[in-house]
Amino acid sequence: MNDAHFMGLALQQAHIASTEGEVPVGAVVVCNGEVVAQAHNAPIGLHDPSAHAEILALRAAAETLGNYRLDDCTLYVTLEPCAMCAGALLNARLKRVVWGAPEPKTGAAGSVVNLFEFPQLNHHTASHGGVMAEEASALLQDFFKTQRQHHKQDAARTRLREDALRTPEQRFENLPDYPWTAQYISDLPSLHGLRMHYLDEGPTDASVTWLCLHGNPGWSYLYRKMLPIFLKAGHRVVAPDLPGFGKSDKPKKDSAHQFDWHRQVLLEFIEALDLQRVHLVVQDWGGLLGLTLPMAAPQRYQGLLVMNTTLATAEKPLSPGFLAWRQMCADKPLFDVGRLLGRGNPQMSDEECAAYNAPFPDAGHRAALRAFPAMVPEFEDSEGAAVSRQAEAFWQQQWTGKSLMVIGQQDPVLGEEVMRDLHRQIRGCPAPVLLPQAGHFVQEHGVEVAALALQHLA
Ligand SMILES: [Zn+2]
Repeated sequence: MNDAHFMGLALQQAHIASTEGEVPVGAVVVCNGEVVAQAHNAPIGLHDPSAHAEILALRAAAETLGNYRLDDCTLYVTLEPCAMCAGALLNARLKRVVWGAPEPKTGAAGSVVNLFEFPQLNHHTASHGGVMAEEASALLQDFFKTQRQHHKQDAARTRLREDALRTPEQRFENLPDYPWTAQYISDLPSLHGLRMHYLDEGPTDASVTWLCLHGNPGWSYLYRKMLPIFLKAGHRVVAPDLPGFGKSDKPKKDSAHQFDWHRQVLLEFIEALDLQRVHLVVQDWGGLLGLTLPMAAPQRYQGLLVMNTTLATAEKPLSPGFLAWRQMCADKPLFDVGRLLGRGNPQMSDEECAAYNAPFPDAGHRAALRAFPAMVPEFEDSEGAAVSRQAEAFWQQQWTGKSLMVIGQQDPVLGEEVMRDLHRQIRGCPAPVLLPQAGHFVQEHGVEVAALALQHLA
């Protein structure tokens, strides 16, 4: 007799689900006239394919009652249970399930199959459907309609590829010292529709374009201290986020990240923006990839600012520092990016550290972080090794631009020893500038570095 009352509570739970972007289904468990559990659908939020309202409600009820068998209980759910949930209800020996709207595609209480009427499976649970079905289906229809509208709006912006993720905009709101307008490009052939983010500030006909390339696990945020100084000099600054980083789309599969692919994306990006009079600014992977770019179009480049990085030619074994980093990434794939930055840069605020975590809300968004350490060419025939050796020859023999090397001496991975090796490969590069207080992320001392770069290069 209270079925409508309890179904009303389940509908309230369904409402909550829809405000959280989950398919609106709610459930309550009632035992001897008392509500012992309420829950709503949450597979997206919990990253859990089994987090249907019924399962969560059953778990909570069993916890409350201290018993995994719920013989005296009734579960109210706004939508016909699926096979998984029907199975769980039967396992709980539930007395009764009362459901709202039928689910023609997956319903396991009569629409597709009826698990409650298999005598071999069920001696316990009675099923009663159609209670307040109209309210429940109206909620579902509204939800899917709104979702279709949102998808349409998204598609109008740039459709997100099925095999990629896009970090929600809100995660980038109010970042300290990052006021620049987001620019996007998705029509580079090698992007296959992935949306790539970049900053492009200053006049397009400026006498100098600073092309600033970040590494792993950074993004264009790394250059926030250098940008204003270059802009003040009247120059243009272009700072892309590599696919998988920053505000760019993030392929779901680690294997999407390959040396040649990232290099090709950057080559096409530079062509598409037709960058001229480029001063290339590189650090970490920004250099592993970026130092291989100028030989493809030397006429575009006139300067190089190189900070802690290397050319991975595989002519020497990888350094112990790098191997330790690669092992750390393999052992702790969810390491805190902000804390990593903060450890070497005590001058950074908590908000600045947090900004480095902004692109990566969960493990799904971290494919690039997992893939990049293993992508460093290790053997002569590794992808990227041959092109890195060609680049080495280019810097040794053909480079005619100005160069400046700045070394953060506290870097255990790509520090002074590695950089002095690289220095020998760059034709005409004056003695490196040493920053004793700087670590791997030299850009965090960007005010000083940008001033040096203006002085030496521009
Ligand atoms: Zn289910």
